[in-house]
Amino acid sequence: MVGAAGAPLFYFTLVIHFLKLTQKRFYKWQKFFAYGVFSIFTLLNITTQWLVKSVEPRLTFPFWPIGGRIFYPFLLAFFGYVIYASILLGKEYKRASGIKKIQTKYIFLGIVLAFFGGATNYFLWFNIPIPPVLNILVTGYPFAIGYAIIRYRLMDIRVVISRSFLYFILVAFVTGSFVFTGFVSSQFFDKRTGIYSILINAIFSLVIVLVLPLLHRSISEVTNRIFFKKEVNYQQLLRDLTQVINVEISLEKLVNSFCEIVREKLKLKKATIFLATKDQHFLSSIDNNDKLESQRKEYRRITNQNPLIKYLSREKEMVITEELERKMLDTKDEQELQRVYQQLSDLKAALTVPIITHHKITAILILWKKLSGEAFSQRDIDLFQVLSPQIGSAIEKAKLYQELQEFNKRLKKEVERATLKLNEANKYLQELDKAKSEFMSIASHQLRTPLTGIMGYLSMLVEGDFGKLEKKQGPVIHQVFEAAQRLIRLVNIFLNISRIENNRFTLNLESKPIESLINDAVFQLKIPANNKGLKLEYVRPKQHLQQVQVDTDKMKDVFLNLIDNAIKYTAKGSIVITTEFTSDKKGIHVKIQDTGIGIDKEEAKKLFQKFVRGDGIARIQPDGSGLGLFIAKKIVEAHGGKIWVESEGLGMGSTFQFILPATKRRKE
Ligand code: ADP
Repeated sequence: MVGAAGAPLFYFTLVIHFLKLTQKRFYKWQKFFAYGVFSIFTLLNITTQWLVKSVEPRLTFPFWPIGGRIFYPFLLAFFGYVIYASILLGKEYKRASGIKKIQTKYIFLGIVLAFFGGATNYFLWFNIPIPPVLNILVTGYPFAIGYAIIRYRLMDIRVVISRSFLYFILVAFVTGSFVFTGFVSSQFFDKRTGIYSILINAIFSLVIVLVLPLLHRSISEVTNRIFFKKEVNYQQLLRDLTQVINVEISLEKLVNSFCEIVREKLKLKKATIFLATKDQHFLSSIDNNDKLESQRKEYRRITNQNPLIKYLSREKEMVITEELERKMLDTKDEQELQRVYQQLSDLKAALTVPIITHHKITAILILWKKLSGEAFSQRDIDLFQVLSPQIGSAIEKAKLYQELQEFNKRLKKEVERATLKLNEANKYLQELDKAKSEFMSIASHQLRTPLTGIMGYLSMLVEGDFGKLEKKQGPVIHQVFEAAQRLIRLVNIFLNISRIENNRFTLNLESKPIESLINDAVFQLKIPANNKGLKLEYVRPKQHLQQVQVDTDKMKDVFLNLIDNAIKYTAKGSIVITTEFTSDKKGIHVKIQDTGIGIDKEEAKKLFQKFVRGDGIARIQPDGSGLGLFIAKKIVEAHGGKIWVESEGLGMGSTFQFILPATKRRKE
């Protein structure tokens, strides 16, 4: 009857511990109360005859207990606690999911077997002639619980086993030691020398007390190693996985390392991540464990329309395949679950973790069965609950990185292509430029020869070599002559430009008095100046200037250009040319001063550049190429000189001037 009192009490205790109700005050008190109740029954059972009045033969049993005055209250307490605990368990079964539900189921199964089997005892108490045959069913209880412990991790009995083992050894050691010393001391000392044996015992006890902690530590180390060797170190695992999540930036590495660690540490057959692609598919990560190519291909692609994806998108929760199996039985929408289940079986998934970012599934982690055949524990599930958002953002990050890299690659290619095009265009432009220069060079040469001929004859005409000109003819021929001169100057400019551009610009130096060059130019431009009513004058220096080393043709072009400009840009007044030695006598300073439109100070420097004309000058003087000053500068600089312009501003006239290095005075 002591055992009978223990049965409902321990069942109740198991249930409230299993349901983790003991933390609640209410249930703590209840447990306390239940212990009280059954202790009283037990006490009364031992000390009085209130529970069992007497015994008498029943059926084949030589004696059977007869209930006393507290037998009915005992029965009430017995069934009351069994029913109460079962109701608590039943509630949990309805609410629970996953492994907890399965565990509940097994406890339930055990209790039904045990209590219905055990309850057949009570018939004989009431003189109903049914023997307690179903008692054998009670053995089903430890089997059911045992199965749940091993298969569904109902309890971590390793702790119990390892601790029991430890204490067994310690107790054996202590008692063994005492028995041994007792034996030894009784062998060597007789009863009269008892004082020695006490002394020896005391010393020995001291030794044991000192040795015991060491022994305790080393044995527990050994037992821990034996019993918890296979234990997954979740903290370490979490650390490892977080490390991967934080560090890996390449998508492939991230996914592969993550799966590899999970597979290895949880001892799974395989772990895979399916990644959402842009084209509405989920692709499995390439994983190294697939040795067979065929196998690899088989499970690679899931479409968005797949029932599994639909299901996960809706439920947004982990799916334990085993649990789904059971869920199929108690749901109305069986067909859908059936299809999901089928898909999971095809994928060999035991645990499926949807990875959700921004309310959308971005990846699916699929875990195969554990190699041990054990089910996934609550701790496994908790682990992925914690990790799934993290891996989600890591995947997102890695994807962005991948996109960025792809974009970079594309950009690089794009730039390369553009550069190539640019190079081609550049080459084409260079060819065009060359063609243009060649054209200019050829055209100028071709123009110059006939022009020189025309000029020759015209000058002869003007000078009266073919007889005196008619009155009407004179001015016309003069104008034609002047126009031809302009033309030849222009052709010279073009010719020089093309020479400069083709690097064929060389000087043909000879000694010449500078005055003669100026005289020639002044002579040539006298008529146009006169036509505009301008005074053109060369004021000779008092001191005779020595000769200069010049390219006569080119230097003459410089004078012609500058004087022609002065005439062009002066409406009235005069153009005065002066020459003098520089103060150090090392150069000859030439000035061409006009009373013309003047030059803006800002503009002055720019005018010597190619194709640059004064701002708004085209309105005043439409003829002009913007090349004259450019050529002049090139020529002067080629002679080792420098050229510039000074002007007080617009309307104030301008003075173009240059310095040429003077050659040493020739010995006369
Ligand atoms: P172009 O005379 O054919 O325009 P140039 O290179 O000879 O080309 O001269 C460049 C510009 O410098 C002219 O367009 C004009 O604006 C300015 N310029 C040149 N000479 C004078 C001058 N004597 N007075 C005022 N402006 C001048």
